[in-house]
Amino acid sequence: MDIDILFSEIREELERARAKFPGDGVTMLALMEEVGELAKASFEEPRANVRKEAVQVAVMAMRVVLDGDSSLSEWRQQKGLDPLVQ
Ligand SMILES: [Mg+2]
Repeated sequence: MDIDILFSEIREELERARAKFPGDGVTMLALMEEVGELAKASFEEPRANVRKEAVQVAVMAMRVVLDGDSSLSEWRQQKGLDPLVQ
């Protein structure tokens, strides 16, 4: 089923990205960068590239939840918000 294939691609990319860029630095900025790349691909590139960038957006959104973003820790603390990860 196509959704299972897509989920496998996301899991594979999640594992690759966490191995290549471990940690929680600028996760949110990296997500925004990927959103920009997805937009650019959808305007200018083949469908396969759009899919690849969409997978990367999904992965970075997941990393905000899984890994957090230490660059936001002080901001969130000042606002009385809980940390992105425990
Ligand atoms: Mg990308």
